[in-house]
Amino acid sequence: MPLLLKGSCRCNAVRFEVESHTPAPFMLCYCSICRKQQGGGGFAINLGADNETLNIRGKRNLGVYRAEIEDDEHPQCEVSSGERNFCRKCGSALWLYDPTWPELVHPFASAIDNDLPIPPSRVHLMLKYKANWVEPVVGKGDKTFDVYPEESIADWHKRTGMWVE
Ligand SMILES: [Zn+2]
Repeated sequence: MPLLLKGSCRCNAVRFEVESHTPAPFMLCYCSICRKQQGGGGFAINLGADNETLNIRGKRNLGVYRAEIEDDEHPQCEVSSGERNFCRKCGSALWLYDPTWPELVHPFASAIDNDLPIPPSRVHLMLKYKANWVEPVVGKGDKTFDVYPEESIADWHKRTGMWVE
């Protein structure tokens, strides 16, 4: 059975549930969008879940932010296809949905209320874009990337034995 993630914003105007085979909070993204929208410690943690199982209460309170990106990887300013969903009442960032990969949704670990499996190691990505004051805590077995890792969230879970059947 996949793990049922139960999430909410801080003010409870939005609550959601979604099933996940890949619930380990191992992927720390230091990009400026994650940091500014959600990651006050310098990064946000994205989980993977099955979009078709996403059940939302309080949908009318959702806002969607699509970031404009202009950096070394995107020399021309582009509007991200990623839809960052947040609560319009309290500002909590909730999940990212990208229609490019419609079967997936990426809840932020910070929005989840139930316990999550502890990852055996972590992946630090987009370090090229981290704030200068952020000193990543890189543990034994952790991997670090300037931009994106090649391994997907699903492949990481399968390799490390963390996949929830
Ligand atoms: Zn709220």
